Amino acid sequence: MLYIYPLGAFTPEQRRVVDRTAEFLGLTFHRPVRVLPDLPLSAVPARARRVHPVERQPQLLTRFVRDELLKPRLPEDAAAFLALTAVDLWPGEGWNFVYGDASLHERVGVWSLARNGDPSKGPEAFRLCLLRTIKTASHETAHMFSLEHCIRYECNMAGSETMEEADRYPLALCPECLAKLCWATGTQPAEHLRWMAEFCGRSGLRTDEAFFRASLRAIGER
Ligand SMILES: [Zn+2]
Ligand SMILES: [Zn+2]
Repeated sequence: MLYIYPLGAFTPEQRRVVDRTAEFLGLTFHRPVRVLPDLPLSAVPARARRVHPVERQPQLLTRFVRDELLKPRLPEDAAAFLALTAVDLWPGEGWNFVYGDASLHERVGVWSLARNGDPSKGPEAFRLCLLRTIKTASHETAHMFSLEHCIRYECNMAGSETMEEADRYPLALCPECLAKLCWATGTQPAEHLRWMAEFCGRSGLRTDEAFFRASLRAIGER
């Protein structure tokens, strides 16, 4: 089972991004997904919050979310326990911000939508926010399924330092990482590619849908 923990408030569009991300993770890792009832922001005490000194936006301390909110609540059957929040994150003293933070061996992680663009600005902005969120969430969750960084291809498992770099990498996995994912999740490449193509089709992610459909044709499937 994969568990998603929404933390704090979301706009209706951000909420849709969270729900679609939950669906995408279920398809990618071939596991049922449970979206837990929201955890209110009041669960994060003042010692684990700050206002960014320059950007003036509120931020949450990732270490607190990981170690004090998630770890004690980790369900026994969780393959991954992931908090998603619309609030910006920072990992502590000396840092500016972080997109997310995970403890891979303990299977807990937290990611923020705050820097993925405002999905209420129209269909294009919604798709971009969704694409960025599902890329990060599936990359990090794949680490929990023991996939390491990809150094051979432009692949969603390649490590990226910046948003520009992450935007350049595709949602799809390369053949080597796809083989590892299928082994780790008990999936067949053709069914994985079909689920990905259908999800992207439903979500208006046309470029990615076309890539998954081409991949299916390349292995003699459709
Ligand atoms: Zn990584
Ligand atoms: Zn790869």
